[in-house]
Amino acid sequence: MSEPSEQFESTVKKSGYSLTAARRTVFAALQGEEPLTMHELVGRCEGIDRASIYRTIALFEQLGIIQRLQMGWKYKLELTGGFVHHHHHLSCVRCGKVIPLPEDANLEKRLLQLAASQNFEAQSHQLEIRGLCTDCRSE
Ligand SMILES: [Zn+2]
Ligand SMILES: [Zn+2]
Repeated sequence: MSEPSEQFESTVKKSGYSLTAARRTVFAALQGEEPLTMHELVGRCEGIDRASIYRTIALFEQLGIIQRLQMGWKYKLELTGGFVHHHHHLSCVRCGKVIPLPEDANLEKRLLQLAASQNFEAQSHQLEIRGLCTDCRSE
C-alpha cells in the first residue's frame, strides 16, 4: 500500500480538486494517533480560517478521506482506512479519552475472515472498546 500522504494527494487530484494549503494543513493535523474534535482540529490548523476548515472537512467526508467517530452525543474526526496507519481504540466513557490499541495482525485477519464468511468483501472497519481509563478507575 502507498504512503498515506501519496494516497491523499492522488485522491484529491483524481476527484478534480487542487491541493490547497488548507487541505494539506487539515490532512496533516489529522495524522496524529488520536481522533480530534472539531475544536481540537481548529486549534491545530493555525493560520487557516474556521470557514475553510469546515469546508475542507465537508469535502474530505465526501471524498471518504475522513470519518466521524460518534462519541455519545459528540463526535470526533479521524482519517479513514487507507489514509492513516490503521488502529483500534479504547474509549473512556467518563473523561472522553481515546487510547490507540497496538496492532494485532491475527485480529485483523480474523475480522476479514468473519466478513468473508458472510460472503462480504470488507473494505474497512472501526473497532472501539468503551469503558473506564486508568485515571477514571482510580477515582
Ligand atoms: Zn477516563
Ligand atoms: Zn483493525
